[in-house]
Amino acid sequence: MTFPPQHHLVNTLSPQPASPDAPGKRVHWIARINHRSRTFGFALLLVIMGLHMAQHNRSWALWLALVLQFGVYPQVAFWRARRAADPLHTEVRHMWLDALSLGGWIAVLHFPLWISFAAATGAMQNLTFYRGARGWLEAVGLLLLGCGLAGWVTGWAVQPQTDDVVTALSIIALSLYLFSIALDSQRRSVRLREVRQELRAKEHALQQQLAEIRSLQAELRDQARHDALTGLFNRRHLNELMTHELARCARNGEPLSLLMIDIDHFKRINDAHGHQVGDEVLRETARLLTERARASDMLFRYGGEEFLLVLLPADAIVAKEVAEELRQRYAVSPLTPGDPPITATLSIGVATFADHGVTVDSLIEAADQALYRAKRAGRNRVEIA
Ligand code: GH3
Ligand code: MG
Ligand code: MG
Repeated sequence: MTFPPQHHLVNTLSPQPASPDAPGKRVHWIARINHRSRTFGFALLLVIMGLHMAQHNRSWALWLALVLQFGVYPQVAFWRARRAADPLHTEVRHMWLDALSLGGWIAVLHFPLWISFAAATGAMQNLTFYRGARGWLEAVGLLLLGCGLAGWVTGWAVQPQTDDVVTALSIIALSLYLFSIALDSQRRSVRLREVRQELRAKEHALQQQLAEIRSLQAELRDQARHDALTGLFNRRHLNELMTHELARCARNGEPLSLLMIDIDHFKRINDAHGHQVGDEVLRETARLLTERARASDMLFRYGGEEFLLVLLPADAIVAKEVAEELRQRYAVSPLTPGDPPITATLSIGVATFADHGVTVDSLIEAADQALYRAKRAGRNRVEIA
């Protein structure tokens, strides 16, 4: 009878430290646990069977076999399992051997009822523990085979009685065995609960991290598309958006216009009031342009003091009207809170899809040239490409 493995699950779930007696090579948990339980269980059987045999004048060869089987064999089995490439498989073979030999001993001792019961129960439980119902069937088969072989070799006899001491010891051994099974089950269920809780906590933490990563990704994407000073879309995002919009306009036959807007003599504001005030003017300009743009329009900070307003949908006539209105209102808008406030004017170049270009680059080029003409013509004006 070998006792069932303790901490079976714990050992499966957590890596085992290397055994001190086998440096560098890990002893498989099954080998270690089976060694402990087999040594203990077989020692009990050695005492019980020894007491029983002592009352029946058995041969010295049988005594030798008893010591070899129940004293030496557990150590040999451990030695083998420790060196095995596949310790689990080796240990299953050992359990088969346990069942076969215990069957043999039952027949050799002439079927002492309590000893047979304890030994057979142990062999069946062990194999069932590792291999389920199939293990139980294997144990029954091997016990019967062991009985058959031993009975055939040594002759059949049935003497089921054992004396009170042997009976009591057999019952105690069996009780200890059942107790160890119950204890192991309890420990395993506790550990299982703990592991489940740990898993749940880890999953929760993982979900939180994922959510954090997702929001950081969204933030990064957002930052990559926006200008830090004004909060408008930046030039990088322009191509992406415009390519998409131009394709849509081409499909639907809708007009689209670009307004390239540049603050006149902005450098003078910087020079006269400092860079910070210049920044403030840029922010206020962005705010004013946003305020006057429609929901369907798109506004970008194209360069230092250049803005690009995409009007959707708008042909050249509408775009010119919008640009004129923007220019006039901007010229009288205070750009700083001071007294007197800073004011400035805008020069605007207008280009329309598909009159002045059909690609993002060609349209921007056309709007830029119109803007250049507005500057050349004296600034504070709107020019159509
Ligand atoms: P023009 O009428 O021909 O457009 O003259 P301008 O002075 O507006 O144009 P120019 O291109 O000579 O100068 C633009 C200036 O804008 C130069 C640069 O220092 C300034 N600028 C660019 N980006 C920023 C910014 O983020 N903040 C501030 N304060 N100034 C900027
Ligand atoms: Mg300028
Ligand atoms: Mg400029």
